Amino acid sequence: MGGGRIIKVSGPLVIAENMADARMYDMVRVSDEGLLGEIIEIRGDRASIQVYEETGGLGPGAPVYNTGAPLSVELGPGLIEAIFDGVQRPLDVIWQKAGDYITRGVEAVALNRERKWDFTPRVKEGDQVLAGDILGTVQETPLVEHRIMVPPAVISGKVVKIYSGEYTVTDVIATLETPTGVVDITMMQEWPVRKGRPYKEKLGPHIPLITGQRILDTFFPVAKGGTACIPGPFGSGKTVTQHQLAKWADAEIVVYIGCGERGNEMTDVLMEFPELKDPKTGEPLMKRTVLIANTSNMPVAAREASVYTGITIAEYFRDMGYSVALMADSTSRWAEALREISGRLEEMPGEEGYPAYLGSRVAEFYERAGRTINLGSDNIEGALTVVGAVSPPGGDLSEPVTQATLRIVKVFWSLDASLAYRRHFPAINWLSSYSLYQADIDPYLRKTLGDKWIEMRREGMRILQEEAELEEIVRLVGVDALSATERLTLETAKSIREDYLHQNSFHEVDTYTSMQKQYRMLELILSFHHQALKVIEKGELDLDLEKLFALPVRERIARAKYVEEENLGELDDIEKEIKEQIAEFSGEGGDADA
Ligand code: ADP
Repeated sequence: MGGGRIIKVSGPLVIAENMADARMYDMVRVSDEGLLGEIIEIRGDRASIQVYEETGGLGPGAPVYNTGAPLSVELGPGLIEAIFDGVQRPLDVIWQKAGDYITRGVEAVALNRERKWDFTPRVKEGDQVLAGDILGTVQETPLVEHRIMVPPAVISGKVVKIYSGEYTVTDVIATLETPTGVVDITMMQEWPVRKGRPYKEKLGPHIPLITGQRILDTFFPVAKGGTACIPGPFGSGKTVTQHQLAKWADAEIVVYIGCGERGNEMTDVLMEFPELKDPKTGEPLMKRTVLIANTSNMPVAAREASVYTGITIAEYFRDMGYSVALMADSTSRWAEALREISGRLEEMPGEEGYPAYLGSRVAEFYERAGRTINLGSDNIEGALTVVGAVSPPGGDLSEPVTQATLRIVKVFWSLDASLAYRRHFPAINWLSSYSLYQADIDPYLRKTLGDKWIEMRREGMRILQEEAELEEIVRLVGVDALSATERLTLETAKSIREDYLHQNSFHEVDTYTSMQKQYRMLELILSFHHQALKVIEKGELDLDLEKLFALPVRERIARAKYVEEENLGELDDIEKEIKEQIAEFSGEGGDADA
């Protein structure tokens, strides 16, 4: 194939003529250096190509070779613990070959071809298998069993040969007899990144992805297979929140796509992630993580591709039956890449120069999330949950990327710089955040935690909302204008904020709270609220509110977060103490002088 010639170079964009045989999204090799590119527009025999490597020095007349295949990723053992660039070149290999700055024409396959993996078959000769069925497994890391599946393109077949032992990703590990002929299967398969991997059925977002982060699980839960957005004003705790999700969310596999602003921002991620520990096993978190890293010195087109590379890898692990958490940080940088390329294509710009199709691209990306019944005979369930960070300039949420994202994702965790400034962490604003999954998830929560949980959660949120209104009154006319009940509302709201929502990621116990413990903690706070309310409603005139609010048990409620999961019985004692101290207080008639 070939015959293409460059007629124009504009940054990452190359226009070539004599490309009549090209199709959209075909991969091409540009010039004799073989730079990787992808066709993104075709007009007659002219093709516009985004090039994933530096285009400096390229000029008209240089050849363009069409590979006839779409941009694809390699899927197989070796993904976990890897750090790839936007087009799945392993960074360590590139650095070895080319030093810090990624120079062009570096050939680096995604998956190591020499390394051998110990393959244990799960099927036997004579078995009938379908696409998606697991032929065998490889213990890729201590934390991840890599399940080798029949690729989607092989619809069905009979196992005529299955191997066992040490193989590379390109060795044949099984031979299938299919209706269209005999097919050799290797541990590696390929998949075009711009196309979602197939599944049998998408399931509703009915199960929460438990994160152990109280504000998220209690008030703004994301469903397994759901989508969430987190804006990241600098210093507001975006990184810490993402690390907490990566460590604690109920997901076996983490895929992190970093689109850094400045080179060193991404370096931070590359330094920090490998330091994180998997809390459940003490192993490095990387043992169940795939990192995709783009720094600003990498070509803009590779950044555009990176989110597709990442989500395709995530889907592949979903297909194995895992719960996968994908984090993209920040999708604003990705959208900027889209904008730059669109500008060079001289497309009609939409709002703030972003292409008119920004919204549909954002939607296409998030729509690849989901809880699914996978291909294969066993109806295995998998989930891919997507959390995208946006970085709106100046924190202005009305800008196009944030708006396009909020139209499609169902959860918004509103990181708030002023909360971070007051050192309220996680600095997620409880008034402006939302989750549209709550109604979908509630039946599950009713079943697992009971109806009371739903009531408590609603009451907790109502108290927080009342606090905001009351604070307005206090600002205008002072705290003396409030009734005793209203002052209790303020006191309880403070307790919800400080004793419940505030959660220290760096405290051994506080860093994670199970749903059971969240239930018990909220129950304590509301139990005090209700009992104090009864005392107030008795209408004693000389009621000493300060003294009521300062009962010693309040301190124990505040410290309930530090009670270890194994010792939740301690919370029963606190409950008892609330009763005793309130009874004693009202026995004294609430009179401070008594
Ligand atoms: P960003 O990534 O938004 O710039 P970071 O995630 O690095 O901000 O957070 C900035 C600092 O805020 C952290 O170094 C830490 O001290 C503090 N912080 C953020 N979240 C928490 C948390 N949940 N618990 C305790 N400290 C936090």
